Amino acid sequence: MLEPTYQADVVVVGAGIAGLSAARRLTSAGVTTMVLEAAHEVGGRMATEKVDGFRLDRIGRLLSTAYPELRLTPGLDGLALSLFAPGVLLHSDGRHHRAGVQPGTRGARGALHAVRALASAPRPGPGPRRPVAVPGRQVSAPRSRTGAPLGTAVDQARLGAAFTKLAGTPVERLLARPEMPAAEALVARGLPARTIDGFLRPLLSALLCDPDLTTSSRSADLALRAFASGRLCLPEGGAEALPQQLARTLPPGTVHTGVRVTSVSTNSVTTAEHGEFRCGAVLIATGARAAAELLPGLRVPGFHPVTVVHHTTDEPPATGASLLLDADRGGPVAHTAVVSRVDPSRAPAGRTLVTSTVLGPHTPDIDTAVRVHLARLYGMSTARWETLGVHHTAEAVPAMRPPHDLRRTVRLLAGLYVCGDHRDTGTVQGALHSAHRASAAILADLGVGRPLHTADPVPTARAA
Ligand SMILES: Cc1cc2nc3c(=O)[nH]c(=O)nc-3n(C[C@H](O)[C@H](O)[C@H](O)COP(=O)(O)OP(=O)(O)OC[C@H]3O[C@@H](n4cnc5c(N)ncnc54)[C@H](O)[C@@H]3O)c2cc1C
Repeated sequence: MLEPTYQADVVVVGAGIAGLSAARRLTSAGVTTMVLEAAHEVGGRMATEKVDGFRLDRIGRLLSTAYPELRLTPGLDGLALSLFAPGVLLHSDGRHHRAGVQPGTRGARGALHAVRALASAPRPGPGPRRPVAVPGRQVSAPRSRTGAPLGTAVDQARLGAAFTKLAGTPVERLLARPEMPAAEALVARGLPARTIDGFLRPLLSALLCDPDLTTSSRSADLALRAFASGRLCLPEGGAEALPQQLARTLPPGTVHTGVRVTSVSTNSVTTAEHGEFRCGAVLIATGARAAAELLPGLRVPGFHPVTVVHHTTDEPPATGASLLLDADRGGPVAHTAVVSRVDPSRAPAGRTLVTSTVLGPHTPDIDTAVRVHLARLYGMSTARWETLGVHHTAEAVPAMRPPHDLRRTVRLLAGLYVCGDHRDTGTVQGALHSAHRASAAILADLGVGRPLHTADPVPTARAA
């Protein structure tokens, strides 16, 4: 039981990655911190379910080794990342071709914390210029909707040059571009239809969890820049590895699970189970809707719903550790991968785990539609594949429609702060970065890390 009279400098509401990383920054600065989490486990949306020795993420996680906060967040130093094969594998007209491979980013650039993963990373799949026949399918030249072949050396050279340029473009320059929905920006920038339909549209849909590309072009540019600068990856052992790693680095007794906060003020929180807790400041690190329940008037964005389907099969598809996208958009699956090839720890020895992500609202009998689509994508029968789990999250990712404020304020009042992916970009990077900003604002208000001058605004909360 918690002592209702317990005092902490800061109470953090929510033990997702935003709340945990903020807590880590605060405790490292000597600020006593208590994290209250409504669920019985930490991690929020980054949960991993264990079924028959498989580790099944509730989310179709795609991280990039180029997410700056994976490097900057204290406590994530030892996080092992399992790398996908370079670029992505695109399915078009019954063929696979690899695209988006950056010669300069094949290695460990940006993967400072992925040393173990790099050492054991599966060999890259077929080279970028060689189309790969889907086993069991008739081989025909891949063609875009414009009738021209896709995945040719010219396509690869064009993309390679574009990505090299993008990776070297400063973020500020990208953010200075006119803002519009990503789908419009792809056309407005004069890109060839074959590049848009054959590569950028499926890639961006997967990265943004947004099938219609209504997302702000600025957020889309940042997602493409991260793709161009690093490697797609997964936390080794499941998405939960990331929040668990953060939780382990906190002083014992910091996190309290099974405690639901029902109201907040600048110097106290009230909980459903343990009454009131007094404190110096409160940081709300819940999802957007729960934050607005605690702070009426806080903006609630729209959301992109996501369904993740896990299968196992005795006969592994031959796509190696690649992320496979469907340029033809011939079914519900946005992206799929033989995840046990990317991260063998997610399946029992000798077993195969295929994880597929469907974007959009939940539809009945999604598993059948997914199997039919996967049979086309992998070029093999999926009739005997076993379904391990189907997870639908209606409010998976906050929508980032234009005009989208990438740095929404995290300091509401001295003593009352808010962070989470809805204050930044709807990604792991955004959640961690918002926590970085919020903890900096709290420390500044507390006067921690710098001498207090008489001209300083009087903080309402102080470090002990
Ligand atoms: C299906 C899916 C796919 C995704 N795909 C990607 C992707 O490919 N790439 C990417 O970067 N990101 C992706 N994301 C987004 C990413 O998972 C989130 O941005 C990130 O996990 C958000 O973390 P958070 O800490 O802000 O919020 P959350 O993880 O939602 O944590 C909030 C916590 O607050 C707790 N809480 C809520 N109310 C209360 C209360 N009243 N009292 C106490 N505790 C409370 C909740 O239980 C929860 O643990 C995906 C998300 C989903 C669901």
